[in-house]
Amino acid sequence: MSAIRLALVGLGKIARDQHLPAIAATPGIELVAVASRSATLDGVAHFATLADLLASGEAIDAVALCTPPQGRRELAGMALSAGKHVLLEKPPGATVSELGPLVAAAQERGRTLFATWHSRFAPAVEPARAFLSEVPPRAVRVTWKEDVRVWHPGQRWIWEPGGLGVFDPAINALSILTAILPRPVFITSAGLDFPSNCAAPIAATLALADAGGLPVRAELDFLQTGPQSWDIVVETDRGTLTLAQGGAVLSLDGQVLSALPETEYRNIYKHFVELVAAGRSDVDLAPLQLVADAFLLGRRTLVAPFHE
Ligand code: NAP
Repeated sequence: MSAIRLALVGLGKIARDQHLPAIAATPGIELVAVASRSATLDGVAHFATLADLLASGEAIDAVALCTPPQGRRELAGMALSAGKHVLLEKPPGATVSELGPLVAAAQERGRTLFATWHSRFAPAVEPARAFLSEVPPRAVRVTWKEDVRVWHPGQRWIWEPGGLGVFDPAINALSILTAILPRPVFITSAGLDFPSNCAAPIAATLALADAGGLPVRAELDFLQTGPQSWDIVVETDRGTLTLAQGGAVLSLDGQVLSALPETEYRNIYKHFVELVAAGRSDVDLAPLQLVADAFLLGRRTLVAPFHE
């Protein structure tokens, strides 16, 4: 099969940091075009918008959408209508319900829709899932605390409706949680801190459970200075299992079980190539559903305005 001719839409932080090197390193896919309002890439066809690209007749097979979640549905719908395969950055959309019609459109047209969750491809996630499939979890504690000023400078969209605020990084924790636990979890209560000048929370506390009553607590903070935390700690009858550094390192009672180099985005593109070859889609909305439920159930507190 010839290589998938891919167009990147949105040349922001994640497109440059991760997508460009991962595409270059993945057999079976090549970057042939970009749609960017503000930037060009040497040797790659450039269009200001996806609509311009599709109207131009440039030969592409697939698009990777690296724009903010607001507006992604329109772009995905446009690409699927034009018969292109679509890779969605996380979160797959600004709402849960907008994904159903996209899944249907992909199916009708026989195209691949891939809602990526990059943290699920972190190297210690699969070993954690395998461990917990044999040793039941007794309690789970998620700590996802990072400094928005360091990791998301100038990204105003994060604070707009649909931008998710602290859930923009924390949905990664939920994507891991929903992959490693043996049973589905649901939100039982939530507290959300909204800066008085923002439409999205800057901190949150979540309580979740599964049908067997597994207690799960999550502490999320977007104003963490000093050491940053992207950790999931699971108490089991065999000891304390810790998935640290966003899914990179797994340890049991402090003894490291797995710590391999990070290859999340290479694995995303490898999986995309496989999905296209197999004529399949991969869309799991569980992490986005949990965020939506936290917004539904959350008790809101107004806190100090956020200024960069
Ligand atoms: P970003 O740096 O703000 O880049 C987003 C890009 O999208 C912009 O540079 C712009 O590119 C394009 N764009 C189109 N419409 C836009 C609009 N209305 N407002 C702002 N930008 C618009 O954001 P990012 O960090 O790359 O995040 C993009 C997506 O990737 C988000 O869903 C995020 O959750 C996800 N993600 C981010 C990270 C991370 O560490 N930053 C990690 C994993 C996933 P052009 O000027 O080229 O059109």
